[in-house]
Order: sequence, then structure tokens, then C-alpha cells
Amino acid sequence: MKIVTRFAPSPTGQLHLGHAFSALLAHRFARERGGAFLLRIEDIDSRRTREEFVAEIEENLRWLGIDWDGPIVRQSERLGLYQAALDRLRDRSLVYPCFCTRSEIAAEIARSAAAPHGPEGVVYPGTCRNLPENVRALRLPREPHAWRLDMEGALTTFCPCEGRSLAPATKLASCLCRSTLDWQDATVGNVEAHPERFGDVVLARKDAPTSYHLAVTVDDAAQGVTDVVRGRDLFGATDVHRLLQSLLDLPTPRYHHHPLLAGPDGGRLAKRHGAPTLAELRAGGADPRELGRALLAGHLPAGYSAATT
Ligand code: GLU
Repeated sequence: MKIVTRFAPSPTGQLHLGHAFSALLAHRFARERGGAFLLRIEDIDSRRTREEFVAEIEENLRWLGIDWDGPIVRQSERLGLYQAALDRLRDRSLVYPCFCTRSEIAAEIARSAAAPHGPEGVVYPGTCRNLPENVRALRLPREPHAWRLDMEGALTTFCPCEGRSLAPATKLASCLCRSTLDWQDATVGNVEAHPERFGDVVLARKDAPTSYHLAVTVDDAAQGVTDVVRGRDLFGATDVHRLLQSLLDLPTPRYHHHPLLAGPDGGRLAKRHGAPTLAELRAGGADPRELGRALLAGHLPAGYSAATT
């Protein structure tokens, strides 16, 4: 099967060395195997997306010597695909509308004794999960709402034994059937997915008819991506993507989560920490071939090192 990789930046800021590293790895992985490399712009967040960042992404990738196959895909032009996926989950009652504002969620968490934390912060307390149907029907046309995955309902659907032999508190997290909900990481090997750590994730935002988790899962499948090369910061999120693949009958690609580049302080490389952007390096006369070779070989410009996390 032909290898297909992709680079999928969000145009909400300028590209820095960490993005270059990720794009170079994904590009090399495809090209060394005679495969295709795709560029997908993840621009569903219309408040933070800026057109000049999209143009800069293209310029900077070209400058680095990275070419891509086919047209650039923009998520903002594919909202119908995500809507169709959401509808499928809604038809199976696996998503529910959530009317909560951020401050209502914070207040609810403050009131409750337990506030479990997941990989994306405090887990949604489930306020809207059990709203009566007539209340939902009244509020839906009038109030802004997100759509959340009913995580327990989704896992119960997936698990043929419904965790019958286990105590309620542990039933879905440790049910034996769950060993089939796994995925492959190039470095770690087989990973058993535990998406329940994330709670009822948002699949469609109040301001966009999708979310990162849904759009990335739908697009990787629709574009035939065989190998997802991306940073280790998204390792945990793959559990959610794996669950969505299972619920939507989509194939599971192989995953290659690479280390993140760290700044001189050991922290994650990001513009807000003063990391040089590619545009700055380019303006400063950096040699893109040398930079690309160095990054791929793990030699970073002086003062930078690969993080171990
Ligand atoms: N759009 C995401 C980002 O810029 C990356 C998504 C992915 O590679 O799965 O962080």
C-alpha cells in the first residue's frame, strides 16, 4: 500500500523550529518510501485563524525544500464532512448538546468534591449529559451549544460484554474487551486506548460545527493517510481518535509520535517563549538546506535540544 503522510498545522501563529522538525520528518518518511506527502490547513478556529499565517506556512515549507502532493486541503472547506460524521453519532445517541459556558463548568467543578483531571485538564462534569429530552428540545433552537461525546455510552457500545463482570467504577476502564481498542506507535509499539481519561470530549464547538478531535479523525481517513507523523504532545489524544475511528468505521493509521523540540530552558518550544520563527530565521539569512539537515539529524541550532518528554 502506498504510504501517505501529512503535515497539518493550525494557522493561528507563525511556524517555529518545532513545526519545521515535524514537517521535515513527515515529508522524509513519505519520500523515502515513494509515498505521498499532504498539506492540510487546520483552520476550523475562525477567531484565531489568520490568512497571512496560511500564506506563510506555504512559503516557509517551500523555503525548507518541502513539496506536497495535490491541492492544499483546508478544513474550513470540509465542514459538511464533519457534520455528516457528527450526524452519524447523533443518530446513535452517542453525542449530546452541551449548553454550559466555561464559567458554569468551572462553578460546577468548584461545587463538586471530585474534579478528575484528564490529559486536557479538568474533565467535564457531565452537567448536560442527562438533561431531559423536552428540556433539550426547548433549549436547542435558542441557546448556543457544543456537542459532546457521551464517552461512557460510546465505550459501552464498543464493548460487547458491556463490562458486565466488573464493578461499576472500573467497568469501562478495565474491561477485557478493551484490549481490542488499540493502536500502533512506531516507538512504543502496541498502545491500549483509554479515551475515558478525557471524559465527554467536545466533537462540535459552539463556534464551529466540529472540533480538532473529530476533524482530524475524519480527514486522516478521508485523505487515506497511512502514517500520522506528529509531536508527542498528541500521543494521548490518539486514544480519542482511535475510539472515533471505531465508532465511525474508519481505518486506523500507524502513528509516529516524535519528541518535541525544547528551548534552552528545557520547556516546550513555542513562539511565546521567544523561539525563533522560521520567518525570522529566513530573514536572518539561515541556509534552509543546512537547517533541514541539522534538524533531521537531531542537531539543533545552538542552545536548543530535543526534549525527552
Ligand atoms: N493542527 C494540529 C496542530 O497544529 C496538529 C494536528 C495533528 O497533527 O494531528 O497542533
